[in-house]
Amino acid sequence: MSKIIVISGPSGSGKNTVYDELLRRDKSIAQTVSATTRKPREGESNGVDYYFISTEDFENRISDGEFIEYVKYGDNYYGTLKSEVQRLSDEQKTVVLIIDVIGALNFKKLFPEAVTVFLLPPSEDVLKHRLCGRGTESDEAIQKRLSIAKEEMRQANKYDYRVVNNELDKCVDEVFSIIKNN
Ligand code: 5GP
Repeated sequence: MSKIIVISGPSGSGKNTVYDELLRRDKSIAQTVSATTRKPREGESNGVDYYFISTEDFENRISDGEFIEYVKYGDNYYGTLKSEVQRLSDEQKTVVLIIDVIGALNFKKLFPEAVTVFLLPPSEDVLKHRLCGRGTESDEAIQKRLSIAKEEMRQANKYDYRVVNNELDKCVDEVFSIIKNN
């Protein structure tokens, strides 16, 4: 089985940017493609960003035991397919999952050898600033994300590693060395 790294971090922690940098440095890293019932956003494509499937299909796959873990967020399901981890493992990749806190902690219970990393924003002010900086959301939506972020950060001590994303390069160095040393 390949090395498995599970990364979580609140919205605004920069987890996707960190992943892009990791991939630039090491082409043997690959992220699992999750399944979801939410609709694709502009620019997202099926099989690349997610496997976009119907609720019925998702629920059938739950019954068939196809997921390692899944969560329901509002009206939408998100889950990691066993077949995805297997596929990347067969390709000898270092498998990276970027999933929410509940999923990550469930995953760790099933795969204790997986290494869990929590990305933290440098401060609440920076987090607020990053969330506002997107300029795409209402005050109410930002407040909601902020309170979810705070709730998620309370779980950070349950992860194997916590890395503060203050300076991108330093943060990527740190995550990269966690991957290499485990
Ligand atoms: P978004 O809708 O913004 O793409 O994702 C919403 C949340 O779902 C993010 O926190 C993301 O990390 C999480 N997520 C994406 N895929 C999975 C998955 O397979 N399992 C779990 N537990 N969370 C996921």
